[in-house]
Amino acid sequence: MTEPLVRAVNVRKSFGDLEVLRGIDLEINRGEVVCVLGPSGSGKSTFLRCINHLDRIDKGEIWVDGHLIGYRRAHGHTYELRPHEIAAQRRGIGMVFQKFNLFPHRTALENITEAPIFVKRQSKADAEARAHELLERVNLGDRADFYPAQLSGGQQQRVAIARALALDPTLMLFDEPTSALDPELVGEVLDTMKDLASDGMTMIVVTHEIGFAREVADRVVFMDGGVVVEHGPPRQVLDDPQHPRTRGFLAKVI
Ligand code: ADP
Ligand code: MG
Repeated sequence: MTEPLVRAVNVRKSFGDLEVLRGIDLEINRGEVVCVLGPSGSGKSTFLRCINHLDRIDKGEIWVDGHLIGYRRAHGHTYELRPHEIAAQRRGIGMVFQKFNLFPHRTALENITEAPIFVKRQSKADAEARAHELLERVNLGDRADFYPAQLSGGQQQRVAIARALALDPTLMLFDEPTSALDPELVGEVLDTMKDLASDGMTMIVVTHEIGFAREVADRVVFMDGGVVVEHGPPRQVLDDPQHPRTRGFLAKVI
């Protein structure tokens, strides 16, 4: 049996007195697409942020691709990683947010080449060649020289996805990637994510798009109150939820 790509073990996180993650246990296999559903405030974003070093867990462990996030164990001791080691871990994890956060004064192409050139020290020519490939992949081959303000929200989000892919991540995290979009632009972003899923990318997607979860997810995770309440194949969790809290939530969103 191959080990899971992501393994969260009893992950706990508080902000002051507020315990936001109250013991998350979750394993995600390589190539798996997991959609995370749950009410606002249930800790979904915090969980993704902890995987990607944007927040730090208080207790438990998160493993990604065989590495303990934020720490190293040696000779029976646990050491905090140094900034350059944390940066190296983060490079393997792509993240896409609700707000696309593109650099406004850089073109689509420049947004994508920034990290490969300055973080990975790729040559400009190599980074640009790869960025053109990625723009083709997200169906924006003809928009390389456009600035974010000249692109629709759906196009900007697809540039953001291409940017995240430019560092060749082993895991992609999506935090409500279509929530800020006009309804008619949601489909093109979901289609891009669907392509990525069929290419075998391991993805954790926080979303309220039940149709996407049903069609694309290998597994749906329902979170509430900082724990995983239930998880399973989309049909099981969406059509035959076992837990009253899942039923209550789905009754409101479907
Ligand atoms: P979700 O993404 O499921 O809506 P979040 O993970 O964003 O939930 O937030 C969970 C809870 O943690 C919320 O009550 C939120 O207000 C709180 N929270 C999130 N980030 C912070 C922070 N940096 N400081 C204080 N409270 C926070
Ligand atoms: Mg959130």
